[in-house]
Amino acid sequence: MPFTDFSLDQRLLQTLKHMGIDTPTEIQEQAIPIALAGKDIMASSKTGSGKTLAFLLPAMQRMISCRALSKRDPRVVILLPTRELATQVYSQLRLLVANTQYKATKILGGENFNDQAKALARDPHFVVATPGRLADHLKQHHLHLNGLELLILDEADRMLDLGFAEQLKQINNAADHKRRQTLMFSATLDHGDVNEIAAELLKTPEHVSIGAGNLEHKDITQRIFLCDHLDHKEALLSRILKDEQQKQIIIFTATRSDTERLAIKLAEEGFKTASLSGELKQTARNQIMDEFSRGLQQILVTTDVASRGLDLLNVSLVINFDMPKFAEEYVHRIGRTGRAGAKGDAVSLVGPKDWVNFTQVQTFLNKKFSFSELEGLKGKFTGLKAKPQSKSKAKPAAAKQKATTAKRKSAAKATANRDRRFATGVDIGDAPMLRKPKSKLQDTPED
Ligand code: ADP
Ligand code: MG
Repeated sequence: MPFTDFSLDQRLLQTLKHMGIDTPTEIQEQAIPIALAGKDIMASSKTGSGKTLAFLLPAMQRMISCRALSKRDPRVVILLPTRELATQVYSQLRLLVANTQYKATKILGGENFNDQAKALARDPHFVVATPGRLADHLKQHHLHLNGLELLILDEADRMLDLGFAEQLKQINNAADHKRRQTLMFSATLDHGDVNEIAAELLKTPEHVSIGAGNLEHKDITQRIFLCDHLDHKEALLSRILKDEQQKQIIIFTATRSDTERLAIKLAEEGFKTASLSGELKQTARNQIMDEFSRGLQQILVTTDVASRGLDLLNVSLVINFDMPKFAEEYVHRIGRTGRAGAKGDAVSLVGPKDWVNFTQVQTFLNKKFSFSELEGLKGKFTGLKAKPQSKSKAKPAAAKQKATTAKRKSAAKATANRDRRFATGVDIGDAPMLRKPKSKLQDTPED
């Protein structure tokens, strides 16, 4: 069915036409009518399946077809976990509002607070924001949300990971009236704590789930290489980069110091490489993303700050130089390729330190990966398995093994049952992970 079958304003259809978009994706086909009917939605669909328009189009339509509840308050607030993602959604929104009288502004951590206060004083209809900074403005009474009609949470699970539950609740409470509609979107929405916050924020939501996060993404080819150590990982990486014709590449590392080191190494090998981490100043981050999206760099080395939502259509390969600490981030990382029906490749380098995280990814995806090899680069590591035991030592070794397995199991259970309410959100909208105690090397919030 074409977009013209939805009851969307001509101006919106016109903009879609200019964007070269004529047929809704599955998530759009299902979510848009529900959203247009004014109902709350909790929606998940795979990465790159067009969730942004699935919420922006009904948001625009609501603006156009309904009378505002308040002349001054924002009518639509869209919350996102990272500044880069908020910037991307904001630019799509700009295309849609360009044809109308509506004003949109973005309110992100790391940018000038007073300028934002001035922008809010101009009474924008749409506010695209990271939750920490928006909550700060709320506290300062730079905006009121009594007239808010539509609250949208994109990548809601990630905002909780980052410790923004409290800010989400503050925003929710400031806009707590019967006529507010709430939409929640992500590729992975199946955690207990997401349900908890959803119960608080959403009113009897409709659940729309299309190819949820842990189903296989058919457009992405996934390869796993076992690695003995760092040098082995680097050798495999160099070979893959040398041998494969790829357009753009994103490489994810565990820490920002690895990010920088690897970026320098790849630049020395002659690749146009940039590195991005949450500790950089916002102007630097903007510049890096801008250059990468314009194709001026071939490789982006980054932490999970770039794992969510970014829609970079020329990324043909995603490399997990280190496995992510939390299984669902794997889905989001590899989802930076294979977008909007394009094909993509994902490579993961799994060493002894990655093994537990790797097995958690397998459990999350309910999939058993086979391992790939490159000639001359086969290592010794074959996974952490029970060692064969000699008869005389069998008993103590078995006991030790049992203890280790139990320890690992309880660690995995702790991860599965993690309680993100205790993470404290800092106004950044982008630090990769607050679920682990902060270490010096980990990417941490900066403001
Ligand atoms: P998601 O949020 O599900 O990861 P995005 O909303 O970022 O996906 O969309 C991914 C890409 O698909 C974008 O480049 C977007 O312009 C494109 N896209 C969205 N909807 C359609 C559609 N109906 N037809 C073709 N392309 C689309
Ligand atoms: Mg998205």
